[in-house]
Amino acid sequence: MSILLWFRNDLRTHDNPALHHFLNNSSSEKPRKAVFFISEKQWQLHDWSPIKIDFIKRHAQALVAELAAINIELELIEAPYFTDQIAYLAQYCQHHNIETVYANSELEFNEQQRDQNCVAQGIPLTLFEADVIVPKGKVLNQSGSMFKVFTPFKNAWLKQVRHAGFDYLGKITAPSLQTTSQNKKSTETASLSSTWPLAAKYEADVLSTFLQVKLSQYADLRDIPSVKGTSGISPYLAAGVISPRYVLTLLLNRNPDLLLATDSKEFSWLNELIWREFYRNLMFHEQRLCKHFCFKEKYQHIKWPNNQQAFSAWCQGKTGYPLVDAAMLQLKQTGWMHNRLRMVVASFLTKHLLIDWRLGEKYFMQHLIDGDLASNNGGWQWAASTGCDAQPYFRIFNPIRQSERFDPNGEFIRKYLPELKSIPDKHIHFPHKYIAQNKMNIYVQPIVEHKTARLNALAFYK
Ligand SMILES: Cc1cc2nc3c(=O)[nH]c(=O)nc-3n(C[C@H](O)[C@H](O)[C@H](O)COP(=O)(O)OP(=O)(O)OC[C@H]3O[C@@H](n4cnc5c(N)ncnc54)[C@H](O)[C@@H]3O)c2cc1C
Repeated sequence: MSILLWFRNDLRTHDNPALHHFLNNSSSEKPRKAVFFISEKQWQLHDWSPIKIDFIKRHAQALVAELAAINIELELIEAPYFTDQIAYLAQYCQHHNIETVYANSELEFNEQQRDQNCVAQGIPLTLFEADVIVPKGKVLNQSGSMFKVFTPFKNAWLKQVRHAGFDYLGKITAPSLQTTSQNKKSTETASLSSTWPLAAKYEADVLSTFLQVKLSQYADLRDIPSVKGTSGISPYLAAGVISPRYVLTLLLNRNPDLLLATDSKEFSWLNELIWREFYRNLMFHEQRLCKHFCFKEKYQHIKWPNNQQAFSAWCQGKTGYPLVDAAMLQLKQTGWMHNRLRMVVASFLTKHLLIDWRLGEKYFMQHLIDGDLASNNGGWQWAASTGCDAQPYFRIFNPIRQSERFDPNGEFIRKYLPELKSIPDKHIHFPHKYIAQNKMNIYVQPIVEHKTARLNALAFYK
């Protein structure tokens, strides 16, 4: 059969069903061809950050070399928009008598529309699924619909994985991630995302240490932003360069009883991976989320005040709340933000400043290396209380209390706000009185007063 392989959000050779079927069904005697489209204009329309785009391009380049070793020619094609991808494929399939184009499906609305347009134009597309552990749409409640609460979803999800046993996992296909170990000694030049190693190097150097050493402490350290207590795997999962099923096999190889040990400390990391599955399922069932509708429809017509000056202060890390500002600077400087801080700054934007969560969602996408529509949307709607199983509207994080709890000595704050280095620990979380008493001029005034902002938010949401 003459088959074309189309890489999308799955630039990897391990656990890649489209690649697996391609290898099984195409003749090794003829040159095997694969394509990946670099669609910068389309990516910009989707608010993909420059650092995420750079990260993806590096993985695409690495995959060219890796596939060449198994006799597959991967061509990287500039196609500004999805329409250009379709035009290229239609012509290519016709010229080369392609009988099937193998690819892994993508969750998002525009991507699905593109695939439907491909089929409408006669491109013989065959899709597989590679972005989740349990196939989307399989974890359902007793009435056959999507769960609206995380915990019962998780329980049903676990049941499926235990039940299907290793049906899902047994299908992990070669070539394995080991092939990519050639990339370990990468001679890459410095680029925007180069502090994030390629997937194979990340797996060898970071993920393996995380699993061996840090996993047991994850539950205790995951909320402390000054400590590297989390895995840092999000850019790899978001870009599809590491498969979530592969990650689960690594976990189960270490601890075969993990799926039953839901109270164990080690489970708490898997719990987060299940949140990822939850949000992907939610988007699968509720495509309106891709268009940024509130999950809870009653919130759709909120008239957010959207004070521009306040929004700009939030973006620049100049709100006068040290933890919020340090977090926003972490995002700006590194392209990543700690989960606890994502919750704090998202709550601050929506509840203290009464700014539409969609502006925050967009800003995050434009700056995050791990920007992912489903998780980002889920996180923002959780914080804004408009989402599925979100926190109730009357739960409003106190940014000073959050700072005292999760950055008690101000270590994280001082890293990103060095101007506050000399502030004693007990004043670091809200240093304004100390600064005034000492006649210093080192930090912006708070743009809102916490107690007033809280009362405003309660009244506004009501
Ligand atoms: C407002 C907001 C926006 C967010 N935007 C994104 C985003 O664009 N992309 C993204 O991948 N995550 C997003 N998250 C979830 C979470 O903050 C990141 O996945 C996490 O900080 C990544 O760091 P890590 O890989 O070290 O996580 P770890 O703690 O090591 O967790 C492992 C993996 O579990 C998944 N995970 C962890 N927490 C969550 C969660 N709350 N929701 C869904 N999946 C989770 C991620 O894939 C993560 O990589 C957002 C959370 C909030 C509150």
